[in-house]
Amino acid sequence: MFDQLGLIGCGLIGGSFALALKQARLVKRVVGYSKSPSTTERARQLGVIDVAAPSALLAVSGADLVLVAVPVGACEATFRAIRHGIGERTLVMDVGSTKGSVIEAAERGLQQKLASFVPAHPIAGKEVSGVEHAEAGLFKGRQVVLTPIQATRRTHVDRAAQLWAGIGARVLQMDHEAHDAAFAGVSHLPHLLAFAFIDAIAARSDGKHMLGLAGTGFRDFTRIAASDPAVWRDILLSNREQVLLQSQAFRKALMQMEALIAADDSPGLEQAIAAASRVRAAWTLPADQPPSAE
Ligand code: NAP
Repeated sequence: MFDQLGLIGCGLIGGSFALALKQARLVKRVVGYSKSPSTTERARQLGVIDVAAPSALLAVSGADLVLVAVPVGACEATFRAIRHGIGERTLVMDVGSTKGSVIEAAERGLQQKLASFVPAHPIAGKEVSGVEHAEAGLFKGRQVVLTPIQATRRTHVDRAAQLWAGIGARVLQMDHEAHDAAFAGVSHLPHLLAFAFIDAIAARSDGKHMLGLAGTGFRDFTRIAASDPAVWRDILLSNREQVLLQSQAFRKALMQMEALIAADDSPGLEQAIAAASRVRAAWTLPADQPPSAE
């Protein structure tokens, strides 16, 4: 049980974390801060936080747990702002979708307080943003990846793992480079493709008409294109190397498919589709798989 959570960024992920902790009775009090006072006040009205702080530093003062849940590009300034409010025993986590850039931001921003920092990425979210969409059950059954660094104190990693498990998440640990490479492929590139795909349709003179005809396949394929612009701008830029590598690999695969169509290669095209179809049909959300017997 933690006495006080200092929450910086009272949005979808930060708000859901606060609600989950409250529901599991793992925290006594939540003090929150967001860039716009109206967001912080809304979080208080919704019962997501108990006290609205006028600054990030005041939100973490006296907290034994701190969650930084802002767009990844805003992490460094946030770490700098809170550094002097972090005590020896305070556990500090982020929730950023990219880890390398956030770790560099923490090294620069937290400095001598780096031992308290456990980088975290919950593999849970929605295409809508904001505290209004926060829910206590968001992390239940979902994976949370911790990417501790050499400077991270071991006891903090254990406390972080226990905390996420306490709100129903499945915790795994990996190296931050492996994290960024993998999530560039299975999360960042799909978002980039969805944004580009919708932009391409919207740019057509008959785009509106086409959208009016689209069905459920289009809805499923493009759901994530409605995601928050600032959050995704920061993710794509902060993991640019890996995203561009994955994008090149995708282009190659797309060009191969295009060549099969152009050549009217019916067996070749069917084979390529069948290979993809087999992989996708056998895939299940990792969180829905039974736990491995380790
Ligand atoms: P969100 O709903 O838009 O919430 C972001 C919050 O951060 C807002 O309350 C915003 O406040 C606040 N904020 C922005 N800049 C700030 C700053 N400089 N100082 C203090 N507060 C600031 O976004 P989210 O989806 O929760 O994303 C937050 C983090 O979670 C991101 O790093 C993202 O990579 C990560 N994440 C997202 C998902 C997902 O599916 N959405 C999944 C996993 C991880 P204002 O309202 O005042 O602007």
